[in-house]
Amino acid sequence: MSASHRVWCVVSLSALRSNLRALRSCCPRGTRILAVVKDNAYGHGLIPVARALAQAGCEEFGVACASEGEELRGAGIRNPILLLGSTLNSEFPVALQHRLTVTLSSMAEARELARAATQVRRTALVQIKLNTGMNRLGARPAEFQQILSYVALHPRLDMVGTFTHLASADSNLSFTRRQIDEATVLPASMARHWANSAAILQRLPGSRTHVRPGLGLYGISPFPRHSSKLRPVLSWKSRILLVRDLPRGETISYGGTFRAPRKMKVATVATGYAHGLPRSLSNRGHALIHGCRCPILGRVTMDMTLVDVSQLSRVKRNDEVVWLGRSGKRMQTAADMARDAGTIPWEIFTRLSPNLPRIFA
Ligand SMILES: *Cc1c(COP(=O)(O)O)cnc(C)c1O
Repeated sequence: MSASHRVWCVVSLSALRSNLRALRSCCPRGTRILAVVKDNAYGHGLIPVARALAQAGCEEFGVACASEGEELRGAGIRNPILLLGSTLNSEFPVALQHRLTVTLSSMAEARELARAATQVRRTALVQIKLNTGMNRLGARPAEFQQILSYVALHPRLDMVGTFTHLASADSNLSFTRRQIDEATVLPASMARHWANSAAILQRLPGSRTHVRPGLGLYGISPFPRHSSKLRPVLSWKSRILLVRDLPRGETISYGGTFRAPRKMKVATVATGYAHGLPRSLSNRGHALIHGCRCPILGRVTMDMTLVDVSQLSRVKRNDEVVWLGRSGKRMQTAADMARDAGTIPWEIFTRLSPNLPRIFA
Protein backbone atom coordinates (compact mmCIF):
# COMPACT_ATOMS: atom_id res chain seq x y z
CA MET A 1 0.00 0.00 0.00
CA SER A 2 2.69 2.51 1.03
CA ALA A 3 4.67 1.33 -2.02
CA SER A 4 2.57 3.56 -4.26
CA HIS A 5 2.90 6.74 -2.17
CA ARG A 6 5.46 9.51 -2.34
CA VAL A 7 4.57 10.92 1.09
CA TRP A 8 2.35 9.22 3.65
CA CYS A 9 1.54 8.84 7.34
CA VAL A 10 1.09 5.67 9.36
CA VAL A 11 -1.18 6.09 12.37
CA SER A 12 -0.95 3.46 15.12
CA LEU A 13 -4.31 3.05 16.80
CA SER A 14 -2.79 0.70 19.38
CA ALA A 15 -0.37 3.47 20.42
CA LEU A 16 -3.37 5.80 20.64
CA ARG A 17 -5.20 3.36 22.95
CA SER A 18 -2.09 2.91 25.04
CA ASN A 19 -1.80 6.71 25.48
CA LEU A 20 -5.46 6.89 26.50
CA ARG A 21 -4.71 4.33 29.24
CA ALA A 22 -1.54 6.16 30.29
CA LEU A 23 -3.40 9.47 30.66
CA ARG A 24 -6.29 7.81 32.49
CA SER A 25 -3.80 6.33 34.95
CA CYS A 26 -2.69 9.89 35.84
CA CYS A 27 -6.25 10.83 36.92
CA PRO A 28 -8.34 9.92 39.95
CA ARG A 29 -10.64 6.94 39.38
CA GLY A 30 -13.88 7.88 37.66
CA THR A 31 -12.50 10.94 35.85
CA ARG A 32 -14.07 11.12 32.42
CA ILE A 33 -11.90 11.71 29.35
CA LEU A 34 -12.97 14.37 26.89
CA ALA A 35 -10.59 13.59 24.04
CA VAL A 36 -9.60 16.66 22.06
CA VAL A 37 -9.86 15.69 18.38
CA LYS A 38 -10.07 19.18 16.91
CA ASP A 39 -8.39 19.96 13.61
CA ASN A 40 -8.62 16.48 12.14
CA ALA A 41 -7.46 14.94 15.44
CA TYR A 42 -4.27 17.01 15.37
CA GLY A 43 -3.76 15.89 11.77
CA HIS A 44 -4.05 12.19 12.66
CA GLY A 45 -7.45 11.63 10.98
CA LEU A 46 -10.65 12.60 12.80
CA ILE A 47 -12.92 9.62 12.21
CA PRO A 48 -10.55 6.66 12.68
CA VAL A 49 -9.05 8.31 15.77
CA ALA A 50 -12.44 9.13 17.32
CA ARG A 51 -13.80 5.65 16.57
CA ALA A 52 -10.78 3.96 18.12
CA LEU A 53 -11.01 6.16 21.21
CA ALA A 54 -14.75 5.63 21.60
CA GLN A 55 -14.28 1.86 21.33
CA ALA A 56 -11.54 2.06 23.94
CA GLY A 57 -13.94 3.70 26.40
CA CYS A 58 -13.26 7.39 25.89
CA GLU A 59 -16.37 9.16 27.18
CA GLU A 60 -16.56 12.49 25.33
CA PHE A 61 -15.00 14.48 22.50
CA GLY A 62 -13.95 18.07 21.91
CA VAL A 63 -13.73 19.64 18.44
CA ALA A 64 -13.02 23.12 17.11
CA CYS A 65 -16.22 23.79 15.19
CA ALA A 66 -19.69 22.51 14.28
CA SER A 67 -18.65 20.92 10.98
CA GLU A 68 -16.19 18.66 12.80
CA GLY A 69 -18.97 17.67 15.21
CA GLU A 70 -21.28 16.97 12.29
CA GLU A 71 -18.61 14.74 10.74
CA LEU A 72 -18.33 12.75 13.97
CA ARG A 73 -22.11 12.30 14.15
CA GLY A 74 -22.09 11.19 10.49
CA ALA A 75 -19.57 8.51 11.44
CA GLY A 76 -21.88 7.19 14.15
CA ILE A 77 -20.20 8.76 17.20
CA ARG A 78 -22.96 9.21 19.79
CA ASN A 79 -20.83 10.46 22.70
CA PRO A 80 -21.19 14.04 23.92
CA ILE A 81 -19.26 16.45 21.67
CA LEU A 82 -18.14 19.83 22.97
CA LEU A 83 -17.50 22.68 20.52
CA LEU A 84 -14.38 24.14 22.12
CA GLY A 85 -14.38 27.35 20.10
CA SER A 86 -17.03 30.04 20.02
CA THR A 87 -19.82 28.93 17.68
CA LEU A 88 -20.98 31.37 15.00
CA ASN A 89 -24.70 32.05 14.60
CA SER A 90 -24.51 30.44 11.17
CA GLU A 91 -23.32 27.20 12.86
CA PHE A 92 -26.12 27.05 15.46
CA PRO A 93 -28.55 25.06 13.26
CA VAL A 94 -25.93 22.30 12.75
CA ALA A 95 -25.08 22.29 16.45
CA LEU A 96 -28.76 22.00 17.38
CA GLN A 97 -29.53 19.33 14.82
CA HIS A 98 -26.62 17.12 15.92
CA ARG A 99 -26.81 17.78 19.67
CA LEU A 100 -23.35 19.34 19.79
CA THR A 101 -22.62 21.16 23.05
CA VAL A 102 -22.02 24.88 22.52
CA THR A 103 -19.46 26.80 24.61
CA LEU A 104 -20.81 30.09 25.95
CA SER A 105 -18.42 32.90 26.95
CA SER A 106 -20.81 35.86 26.85
CA MET A 107 -24.43 36.90 27.34
CA ALA A 108 -24.52 37.82 23.65
CA GLU A 109 -23.79 34.23 22.63
CA ALA A 110 -26.32 32.91 25.19
CA ARG A 111 -29.09 35.14 23.82
CA GLU A 112 -28.30 34.39 20.19
CA LEU A 113 -28.22 30.64 20.81
CA ALA A 114 -31.50 30.81 22.77
CA ARG A 115 -33.12 32.61 19.84
CA ALA A 116 -31.85 30.02 17.33
CA ALA A 117 -33.02 27.12 19.55
CA THR A 118 -36.45 28.64 20.08
CA GLN A 119 -36.83 29.16 16.34
CA VAL A 120 -36.28 25.48 15.50
CA ARG A 121 -37.99 24.24 18.71
CA ARG A 122 -34.96 22.31 19.93
CA THR A 123 -33.02 22.39 23.17
CA ALA A 124 -29.40 23.51 22.94
CA LEU A 125 -26.77 21.79 25.08
CA VAL A 126 -24.34 24.28 26.58
CA GLN A 127 -21.22 24.48 28.67
CA ILE A 128 -20.29 27.84 30.13
CA LYS A 129 -16.67 28.88 30.05
CA LEU A 130 -14.93 30.93 32.73
CA ASN A 131 -12.01 33.18 31.86
CA THR A 132 -9.29 32.64 34.44
CA GLY A 133 -6.48 34.46 32.65
CA MET A 134 -6.17 32.96 29.18
CA ASN A 135 -8.25 35.91 27.90
CA ARG A 136 -9.23 34.19 24.66
CA LEU A 137 -12.69 32.78 25.40
CA GLY A 138 -14.63 32.59 28.63
CA ALA A 139 -16.52 35.09 30.74
CA ARG A 140 -15.21 36.99 33.76
CA PRO A 141 -16.84 35.84 37.04
CA ALA A 142 -19.64 38.45 37.06
CA GLU A 143 -20.79 37.72 33.51
CA PHE A 144 -20.20 33.99 34.11
CA GLN A 145 -22.77 34.08 36.95
CA GLN A 146 -25.15 36.06 34.74
CA ILE A 147 -24.91 33.44 31.99
CA LEU A 148 -25.42 30.63 34.54
CA SER A 149 -28.70 32.21 35.74
CA TYR A 150 -29.88 32.99 32.21
CA VAL A 151 -29.25 29.40 31.04
CA ALA A 152 -30.79 27.88 34.18
CA LEU A 153 -34.02 29.77 33.55
CA HIS A 154 -34.23 29.36 29.78
CA PRO A 155 -36.41 26.45 28.64
CA ARG A 156 -34.46 25.99 25.39
CA LEU A 157 -30.99 25.92 26.99
CA ASP A 158 -29.73 22.85 28.81
CA MET A 159 -26.57 23.37 30.88
CA VAL A 160 -24.35 20.28 31.00
CA GLY A 161 -21.16 21.74 32.47
CA THR A 162 -18.68 24.53 32.96
CA PHE A 163 -14.95 24.80 32.32
CA THR A 164 -11.90 26.97 31.98
CA HIS A 165 -8.63 26.68 30.08
CA LEU A 166 -5.08 26.83 31.40
CA ALA A 167 -2.75 29.23 29.60
CA SER A 168 0.65 28.07 30.89
CA ALA A 169 0.31 24.57 32.36
CA ASP A 170 3.60 23.52 30.75
CA SER A 171 5.57 26.65 31.65
CA ASN A 172 4.26 28.58 34.67
CA LEU A 173 3.09 26.58 37.66
CA SER A 174 2.21 29.48 39.96
CA PHE A 175 0.05 31.14 37.26
CA THR A 176 -1.58 27.74 36.66
CA ARG A 177 -2.31 27.22 40.36
CA ARG A 178 -3.99 30.64 40.48
CA GLN A 179 -6.14 29.65 37.49
CA ILE A 180 -7.15 26.39 39.18
CA ASP A 181 -7.98 28.29 42.40
CA GLU A 182 -10.26 30.59 40.41
CA ALA A 183 -11.91 27.53 38.88
CA THR A 184 -13.42 26.66 42.28
CA VAL A 185 -16.39 28.87 41.28
CA LEU A 186 -17.33 26.26 38.64
CA PRO A 187 -20.43 24.52 40.06
CA ALA A 188 -19.57 21.07 41.45
CA SER A 189 -23.04 19.70 40.62
CA MET A 190 -22.22 19.27 36.90
CA ALA A 191 -19.30 18.51 34.62
CA ARG A 192 -16.35 20.81 35.38
CA HIS A 193 -12.92 20.64 33.81
CA TRP A 194 -9.73 22.52 32.98
CA ALA A 195 -6.88 20.02 32.58
CA ASN A 196 -5.05 19.77 29.25
CA SER A 197 -2.25 17.22 28.68
CA ALA A 198 0.31 19.25 30.62
CA ALA A 199 -1.95 19.51 33.69
CA ILE A 200 -2.87 15.80 33.53
CA LEU A 201 0.74 14.63 33.28
CA GLN A 202 1.75 16.86 36.21
CA ARG A 203 -1.20 15.50 38.20
CA LEU A 204 -2.18 19.00 39.23
CA PRO A 205 -4.66 18.84 42.10
CA GLY A 206 -8.19 20.27 42.04
CA SER A 207 -11.51 18.50 41.85
CA ARG A 208 -12.87 18.03 38.36
CA THR A 209 -15.12 15.52 36.64
CA HIS A 210 -13.41 15.52 33.22
CA VAL A 211 -9.97 16.05 31.71
CA ARG A 212 -9.25 17.25 28.16
CA PRO A 213 -6.10 15.69 26.75
CA GLY A 214 -5.00 16.52 23.20
CA LEU A 215 -1.28 16.25 22.50
CA GLY A 216 -0.73 13.48 25.06
CA LEU A 217 -3.21 11.21 23.27
CA TYR A 218 -1.09 11.52 20.15
CA GLY A 219 1.93 10.37 22.13
CA ILE A 220 3.82 13.62 22.62
CA SER A 221 4.31 15.21 26.01
CA PRO A 222 4.47 18.97 26.45
CA PHE A 223 7.54 18.24 28.62
CA PRO A 224 10.43 15.94 27.74
CA ARG A 225 10.48 14.33 31.19
CA HIS A 226 7.09 12.62 30.81
CA SER A 227 7.55 11.30 27.31
CA SER A 228 8.40 7.71 28.29
CA LYS A 229 4.78 7.04 29.33
CA LEU A 230 3.51 7.93 25.89
CA ARG A 231 3.95 6.36 22.46
CA PRO A 232 4.02 8.56 19.36
CA VAL A 233 1.01 7.62 17.23
CA LEU A 234 1.93 9.07 13.85
CA SER A 235 4.87 8.23 11.59
CA TRP A 236 5.52 10.37 8.53
CA LYS A 237 7.40 8.89 5.63
CA SER A 238 8.51 9.55 2.10
CA ARG A 239 10.90 8.25 -0.54
CA ILE A 240 14.17 9.21 -2.16
CA LEU A 241 13.72 10.34 -5.76
CA LEU A 242 17.40 10.69 -6.71
CA VAL A 243 20.83 10.20 -5.19
CA ARG A 244 23.89 11.96 -6.61
CA ASP A 245 27.38 13.13 -5.90
CA LEU A 246 27.87 16.83 -5.40
CA PRO A 247 31.35 18.27 -6.08
CA ARG A 248 32.93 20.46 -3.43
CA GLY A 249 31.98 24.16 -3.78
CA GLU A 250 28.59 23.62 -5.46
CA THR A 251 25.48 25.15 -3.89
CA ILE A 252 22.11 23.51 -3.23
CA SER A 253 18.48 24.49 -3.83
CA TYR A 254 16.84 27.94 -4.17
CA GLY A 255 19.01 30.83 -3.22
CA GLY A 256 22.10 28.65 -3.02
CA THR A 257 22.09 28.92 0.77
CA PHE A 258 24.19 25.79 1.27
CA ARG A 259 27.64 25.33 -0.29
CA ALA A 260 29.25 21.89 -0.19
CA PRO A 261 32.42 22.14 1.95
CA ARG A 262 33.63 18.85 0.45
CA LYS A 263 32.45 16.26 -2.04
CA MET A 264 29.08 15.02 -0.79
CA LYS A 265 26.40 12.48 -1.58
CA VAL A 266 22.99 14.16 -1.66
CA ALA A 267 19.48 12.67 -1.86
CA THR A 268 16.46 14.48 -3.26
CA VAL A 269 13.43 13.51 -1.13
CA ALA A 270 9.80 13.74 -2.31
CA THR A 271 8.59 15.97 0.57
CA GLY A 272 8.34 19.74 0.81
CA TYR A 273 6.51 22.50 2.58
CA ALA A 274 3.32 21.77 0.65
CA HIS A 275 3.14 18.48 2.56
CA GLY A 276 3.75 20.21 5.88
CA LEU A 277 7.52 20.16 6.23
CA PRO A 278 8.29 23.56 7.79
CA ARG A 279 10.33 25.76 5.45
CA SER A 280 12.10 26.97 8.57
CA LEU A 281 13.89 23.58 8.52
CA SER A 282 15.97 24.87 5.59
CA ASN A 283 19.60 24.08 6.55
CA ARG A 284 18.35 22.80 9.92
CA GLY A 285 16.97 19.52 11.20
CA HIS A 286 17.17 16.16 9.49
CA ALA A 287 15.44 13.12 8.05
CA LEU A 288 16.12 9.54 9.14
CA ILE A 289 17.27 7.12 6.42
CA HIS A 290 18.51 3.57 7.07
CA GLY A 291 18.54 4.45 10.79
CA CYS A 292 20.86 7.46 10.30
CA ARG A 293 20.32 11.19 10.75
CA CYS A 294 20.61 12.91 7.38
CA PRO A 295 20.82 16.71 7.70
CA ILE A 296 18.63 18.91 5.51
CA LEU A 297 20.74 20.88 3.02
CA GLY A 298 19.64 24.21 1.55
CA ARG A 299 16.06 25.44 1.32
CA VAL A 300 13.08 23.16 1.74
CA THR A 301 11.09 23.57 -1.51
CA MET A 302 7.40 23.08 -2.22
CA ASP A 303 7.49 19.35 -2.99
CA MET A 304 11.12 18.31 -2.52
CA THR A 305 13.92 18.59 0.01
CA LEU A 306 17.62 17.70 -0.20
CA VAL A 307 19.44 15.78 2.52
CA ASP A 308 23.04 14.73 3.13
CA VAL A 309 23.45 10.98 2.69
CA SER A 310 27.28 10.98 2.47
CA GLN A 311 27.51 8.57 5.41
CA LEU A 312 25.25 5.93 3.77
CA SER A 313 26.95 3.46 1.46
CA ARG A 314 24.01 1.62 -0.07
CA VAL A 315 21.43 4.38 -0.27
CA LYS A 316 19.41 4.50 -3.50
CA ARG A 317 16.42 5.90 -5.30
CA ASN A 318 13.05 4.73 -3.83
CA ASP A 319 14.49 4.10 -0.32
CA GLU A 320 12.27 5.03 2.61
CA VAL A 321 12.76 8.35 4.39
CA VAL A 322 11.37 8.93 7.88
CA TRP A 323 10.43 12.48 8.88
CA LEU A 324 8.61 11.44 12.04
CA GLY A 325 8.86 8.03 13.66
CA ARG A 326 11.37 5.26 13.91
CA SER A 327 14.13 4.26 11.51
CA GLY A 328 16.37 1.47 12.80
CA LYS A 329 17.42 2.46 16.30
CA ARG A 330 16.67 6.13 15.80
CA MET A 331 13.46 8.00 16.43
CA GLN A 332 12.40 11.51 15.50
CA THR A 333 9.33 12.91 17.26
CA ALA A 334 7.19 15.94 16.45
CA ALA A 335 8.77 17.55 19.52
CA ASP A 336 12.26 17.01 18.05
CA MET A 337 11.24 18.44 14.69
CA ALA A 338 9.44 21.35 16.35
CA ARG A 339 12.58 22.27 18.28
CA ASP A 340 14.62 22.37 15.05
CA ALA A 341 11.90 24.30 13.22
CA GLY A 342 11.39 26.88 15.97
CA THR A 343 7.79 25.87 16.58
CA ILE A 344 5.71 23.52 18.76
CA PRO A 345 4.63 19.91 18.12
CA TRP A 346 0.97 20.97 17.87
CA GLU A 347 1.87 23.03 14.80
CA ILE A 348 3.98 20.27 13.24
CA PHE A 349 0.96 17.93 13.41
CA THR A 350 -1.68 20.36 12.20
CA ARG A 351 0.50 21.53 9.31
CA LEU A 352 0.58 18.01 7.86
CA SER A 353 -1.37 18.28 4.64
CA PRO A 354 -4.85 16.72 4.90
CA ASN A 355 -4.15 15.27 1.43
CA LEU A 356 -1.43 12.92 2.70
CA PRO A 357 -2.64 9.33 2.81
CA ARG A 358 -3.05 8.10 6.39
CA ILE A 359 -2.59 4.38 6.83
CA PHE A 360 -4.20 3.09 10.03
CA ALA A 361 -2.34 0.23 11.59
C1 LIG B 1 -6.69 22.09 22.35
C2 LIG B 1 -7.32 22.13 23.67
C3 LIG B 1 -7.01 21.19 24.66
C4 LIG B 1 -5.92 20.14 24.50
O1 LIG B 1 -4.66 20.69 24.82
P1 LIG B 1 -3.33 19.79 24.78
O2 LIG B 1 -2.30 20.70 25.30
O3 LIG B 1 -3.10 19.42 23.35
O4 LIG B 1 -3.58 18.61 25.65
C5 LIG B 1 -7.74 21.23 25.84
N1 LIG B 1 -8.70 22.15 26.04
C6 LIG B 1 -9.01 23.09 25.11
C7 LIG B 1 -10.07 24.10 25.39
C8 LIG B 1 -8.32 23.12 23.91
O5 LIG B 1 -8.62 24.05 23.00
